[in-house]
Amino acid sequence: MKRRTFIGILAGAGASLATGTAGAAGNHHFTGYPDSYGVLFDSTKCIGCRKCEAACNAVNELPKPELPFDDLSVLEKRRRTHHDTFTVVNKYEYNGKPVFRKIQCNHCQEPACASACFVGAFKKEPTGAVSYDASRCVGCRYCMIACPFEIPTYEYHDPITPRVRKCTMCQPRILEGKLPGCVEACPKGALVFGHRDELLQIARERIRKHPELYVNHIYGEQEMGGTNWLYISGVPFEILGMREDLGITPAPQLTTGALSVVPAVVGLWPMFLTGAYAITKRKEKIAAEERAHAVQKAVAEAEAEAAKKLAAALEKAEREKQAAIDREVKKALKEAEEARKKAEAASEGEE
Ligand code: SF4
Ligand code: SF4
Repeated sequence: MKRRTFIGILAGAGASLATGTAGAAGNHHFTGYPDSYGVLFDSTKCIGCRKCEAACNAVNELPKPELPFDDLSVLEKRRRTHHDTFTVVNKYEYNGKPVFRKIQCNHCQEPACASACFVGAFKKEPTGAVSYDASRCVGCRYCMIACPFEIPTYEYHDPITPRVRKCTMCQPRILEGKLPGCVEACPKGALVFGHRDELLQIARERIRKHPELYVNHIYGEQEMGGTNWLYISGVPFEILGMREDLGITPAPQLTTGALSVVPAVVGLWPMFLTGAYAITKRKEKIAAEERAHAVQKAVAEAEAEAAKKLAAALEKAEREKQAAIDREVKKALKEAEEARKKAEAASEGEE
């Protein structure tokens, strides 16, 4: 394992981190787990090779993309994460030169997705990862609206069990003492895994030693209350398509601030969300009832039509049967009449 891609001691990570999983949701200040891990992305080292994308696809057993990962023509378009693509590398330009940025869930210290999720499907884990539990998810997609980085996406194509999808920071691998797939695959050391506080030190040291190479800012140290995925860059972050207007206030505090404008509303956010959920559920129930009613009506109409056709067929059959009987009777009467006439003629001949 390369030192440059792994900082910190993973031994015992499973034992020390698997215990205790706290939800970060809620309107209280949470400063992050002290020993949590993270990844430092150094855009000065990234060459846009997409090896990280390929590794992420393999580790998460995602569907293969239309174009292979070694096809770099996709870099000509700005891409975002998708339900089957947890990370993408985009190409930007600065002073006529290409610069690259890897995009994935930033694993916020106080995740907006978790604070918006009223059923607790998102959790900030002691590893630093923000995890998602599909079994709790009710599909309201508030997390997608809440995320300032536009990361979570939804499996709209799956009508039965759609999930919200995003990068997991390879938490299962971390707990096994392995590196996240993308970090392991990066041939340029553009991704470094380690304890968040150590990554911050490394980032500061690189900036201090090479002020000519880096802008003096670690993106994610403070943004939205801090993230476990950190970025350093040789170009202003806005060139890399990164929002610089987010401020340092974590999402749960922002929620409280916005609601406190109307004091009576403070604390009603979960109730509001629950209410919205109840309305959605009620709408779904009414729609289901309407569908059931329509099906019932259609079945009743089909049955009535079938009964009508059967009655008509029986009547027709009855008529045909009666006509056949009439024909037979008529024939028999005619034959009897002919026999009678024949007999009379024979007896007249004898006289
Ligand atoms: S980047 Fe978005 S999805 Fe990831 S933890 Fe932050 S708010 Fe949640
Ligand atoms: S594998 Fe490393 S160098 Fe290649 S695109 Fe990903 S981050 Fe950049």
